[in-house]
Amino acid sequence: MSDSNPAPSLYAAREPIFPRRVSGVFRNLKWYIMAITLGIYYLTPWIRWDRGPSLPDQAVLLDLANRRFYFFWIEIWPHEFYFVAGLLIMAGLGLFLFTSALGRVWCGYACPQTVWTDLYILVERWIEGDRNARLRLHRQKKMDFRKARLRLTKWTAWFLIGLATGGAWVFYFADAPTLLVDLVTGQAHPVAYSTMLILTATTFFFGGFAREQICIYACPWPRIQAAMMDEDTLVVGYRDWRGEPRGKLNKKQQEAGAEPKGDCIDCMACVNVCPVGIDIRDGQQLECITCALCIDACDDIMEKIGKPRGLIDYMALSDETRERAGEPPKNIWKHILRPRTILYTSLWSFVGLGLLFALFIRADIDLTVAPVRNPTFVTLSDGSIRNTYEVRLRNKHGEARPFKLSVKGDPAMRIQLEGTSYDSVEVPADAAYLQKVYIVTPKAAAASAAEATPVRIWVEDLSNGERAYKDTTFNGRGN
Ligand code: SF4
Ligand code: SF4
Repeated sequence: MSDSNPAPSLYAAREPIFPRRVSGVFRNLKWYIMAITLGIYYLTPWIRWDRGPSLPDQAVLLDLANRRFYFFWIEIWPHEFYFVAGLLIMAGLGLFLFTSALGRVWCGYACPQTVWTDLYILVERWIEGDRNARLRLHRQKKMDFRKARLRLTKWTAWFLIGLATGGAWVFYFADAPTLLVDLVTGQAHPVAYSTMLILTATTFFFGGFAREQICIYACPWPRIQAAMMDEDTLVVGYRDWRGEPRGKLNKKQQEAGAEPKGDCIDCMACVNVCPVGIDIRDGQQLECITCALCIDACDDIMEKIGKPRGLIDYMALSDETRERAGEPPKNIWKHILRPRTILYTSLWSFVGLGLLFALFIRADIDLTVAPVRNPTFVTLSDGSIRNTYEVRLRNKHGEARPFKLSVKGDPAMRIQLEGTSYDSVEVPADAAYLQKVYIVTPKAAAASAAEATPVRIWVEDLSNGERAYKDTTFNGRGN
């Protein structure tokens, strides 16, 4: 490449976007979703839930120190992590389902990046004004008192939202009222402060400055979602067969018999409200987050010029051909109820029902048994044979419970607990208790004991008779 013809730069600086205020059905829907999702996020750690005197009373709590996840009446122990895995699978399948039916509806309405960016734009609009005022301020090169005041007010508001976001996050990991006092008095753990700081900074930067850049360049979802969409997926599109040729004829042109124009008057309202700064009239684009704000903007214009709404609309590719041929589009349910969405719904329900079933049949007491195999058995001085097991007893109740242990197998076998002459132990509330257990077979039976005899270790909660068991083996000499 010669100096006179330099290689084009692969870098393009970000063009700031100043979305205009818009009102309409989809904008209202987005406000409701924003209020609900932010409300859930900020308020959930403050909901109390009585679980008894020795358990935390926070409804949703990720107690990392004690390795528990509390979700209202559900308590997940580390060995039950499959519940969390199941919920993640359900979330994934739900995303597939919505994407195959309604395109990037998650991105446009409920993704945290969208919700917080929307909130930041709202604050920006309150402080600096709508699109034109913000554009003027942006183009004003001189930093006068007014510009400095507006910028400072906006950044302070953004910072406070970021701080509340980071603060709410750490409240999910400890008792929220206690942690709030600790944070304010400077007594909280450094991890809490650093987590808050990181989340404050990322919220401030992602919502305030990076905005659509995250959706376009950083997020992998736009690339993956195409695999879940087909010609029946409803996405936001422009009816070019109705809108083109775009433009507006003035009286003179009309009188001169100029060729009539389509419904699009090229007012740019759809472009000016778009949070990612694209023109939907250019066709489907990877950048489009399907927020439908351009639908609201265009419907408003169509109403003003007395044309039917829906020049920009939710539509499927399969309807395009029909509409071009003058046929009506398919019924909306034909787009939503199709094999792909039915399959995703069935899988989603299957996993959900499985989790519900597992939740309702799980016991409040539990045990795991780990045989000690070094040595596999010991012959005692009286000729009897003894095997050792490490039994982990789990008491999921909010108070301490007496647990009795017994063995079923060879009737001659008996059980002994290390450290006590009784066959029961007190297991603390909401705890796992490690108990060393011996199973002994007397001399008379030891001679004929097989190399490996199946045995079942039972645990019984003596306060309510609830029982659980685990199968293991008893090792003998063999014949
Ligand atoms: S808002 Fe509607 S009329 Fe205006 S430019 Fe967009 S498509 Fe055309
Ligand atoms: S083109 Fe329309 S639907 Fe797509 S991001 Fe822009 S405003 Fe939202």
